[in-house]
Amino acid sequence: MCKALSLVLLAVIALPETSRAEALFDVKPVAPDVYAAIARSHRPENANSAFILLDDGVLVVDTASTPSSARALIAEIRQLTPKPVKWIVNTHFHWDHYWGNQAFVEAFPNVEIISSRRTRQDMERMGLGNPLLARWSVEIPETIADWKRQLTETTELDRRQRLTERIQGWEAALLELKAIRPVLPTLTFERRLVLHSGARTVELLWLGRGHTAGDVVVYLPQDHVMATGDLLAGDTPYIADITPYDWIRTLDALEKLDFDAAIPGHGDVVAGKEKLGLWKEYFRDLMAKTESAYATGTTLEDTVKQISARLVEKYRERFGADFPAAVRGNVSAAYRIASGEQN
Ligand SMILES: [Zn+2]
Repeated sequence: MCKALSLVLLAVIALPETSRAEALFDVKPVAPDVYAAIARSHRPENANSAFILLDDGVLVVDTASTPSSARALIAEIRQLTPKPVKWIVNTHFHWDHYWGNQAFVEAFPNVEIISSRRTRQDMERMGLGNPLLARWSVEIPETIADWKRQLTETTELDRRQRLTERIQGWEAALLELKAIRPVLPTLTFERRLVLHSGARTVELLWLGRGHTAGDVVVYLPQDHVMATGDLLAGDTPYIADITPYDWIRTLDALEKLDFDAAIPGHGDVVAGKEKLGLWKEYFRDLMAKTESAYATGTTLEDTVKQISARLVEKYRERFGADFPAAVRGNVSAAYRIASGEQN
């Protein structure tokens, strides 16, 4: 999940529907009949998906952030198999992972949408009149109005063209946003749900609180592969709703599973378990440094500045290019936790 909306929406709507699949996702095999659909251009706003081709249908993990992105995923699946999508797993309740559900339901009316009980509750809590949608439907028209005003004030040709493109892009994006109707899971479970298909088993596991309270991993024990949602990302962890202490415990549980590759919620396929160790180390460090800053009376603003700089220096090489920007949000979340404002 990410606050910056512009890039993904502009990218989504700037392209004709037929070429969106190519433009939005890189589909790569991870094991026989298991594919990762990696959202392109390192846009956290559009989450990754995974496709698991089973005997009598396809299981899709996460459905991207918009119906048009979901249609791009469906086009990719149709390149791989004529089988219908029979199951969707929503790994957690964040919009970038499930607002594509409606396009899948339109294409495959019998599809079963599965999540943890807690994830469905969180989706319900967000409501169909999602506050994010409500906010954007106010903010985007304001932004468009501002660009239109700028357009009337500039005579420079290049700038006029850029503004015109932006206005057109956002007007189309607004239309798509207005058409989004979040679709809730139809089947929920507490800790473990196992699908059996021929020789293959697919385990849906809730291992504890991590990125959210309801994160589910989709584990293929025979293939030593899993899809993790945002419990693990190819880039930087995004601390949203849960403390890093819970997240560390859940990563410990994840580490005990036998896997060689993880399809994360964002960023590229993760090989091996090394990243789990890195994330745990980073979370511990982040909390220790922030807690001691809080304990000595440092303000939020100064803590974010000082601790971010130290963490960037220490971890920059081992995380993705987004780390210096993402770390600030993590420090401020850690500060809220240290102060007892968030738990
Ligand atoms: Zn996400």
